[in-house]
Amino acid sequence: MKATPPESPVLKPAPRNGKPKAAAPAPTGKPGRAAVEDAIRTLIRWAGDDPDREGLVGTPDRVVRAFEEWFAGYAVDPVELLQRTFEETDGYDEMVVLRDIGFVSHCEHHLAPILGKVHIAYLPDRRVVGISKLARLIEVYARRLQIQEKMTAQIANTLQEVLLPKGVAVVIEAQHQCMTTRGVHKPGVSMVTSRMLGAFRHSPGTRQEFLSAIGHPGGKLTSGD
Ligand SMILES: [Zn+2]
Repeated sequence: MKATPPESPVLKPAPRNGKPKAAAPAPTGKPGRAAVEDAIRTLIRWAGDDPDREGLVGTPDRVVRAFEEWFAGYAVDPVELLQRTFEETDGYDEMVVLRDIGFVSHCEHHLAPILGKVHIAYLPDRRVVGISKLARLIEVYARRLQIQEKMTAQIANTLQEVLLPKGVAVVIEAQHQCMTTRGVHKPGVSMVTSRMLGAFRHSPGTRQEFLSAIGHPGGKLTSGD
């Protein structure tokens, strides 16, 4: 019987060409509007309908305009958005909480809507930001292709980075229509994600105060209780 060559006893070195793959180049320029409308017509044909029938003839144009709204967040720099709006706080240093801020986003896996609400809190350290700017910050990240975990972290991290507060907390509760209307078909199920930074991470009392303020007094973040 032919002996097989012995396995090397040492771990194989990383392949010489095993450098991490370069990130895909950022798309250069958007496709033209006609190309996008053609793509919508293709989807309609693929679904089994006739894009030239009366009820559908204006649909590609409407879909493009809807996309312009749903994905307007790519055109806004969230850091710049907040930086324009520093205010003096006159020494205010208590928790600022905004709760039940509704949003519409789209999942990056199915382009299906994600509908939910965001709760935000921060403990200011000299700087505060207007309520409308916080709502706009959520819009900037919601109006992109998203996963909920990433959106939660992006909102918290941006607030931390720009306001330099003593802490930031973000909780998102949302329903994913890719899950509720297809696939596993679980209507009513919502997903809860959270990101706690600074005092909200390290101080149980601060975290409890926030969770009570948003209606989770037990501190549990599971939905439906
Ligand atoms: Zn999805």
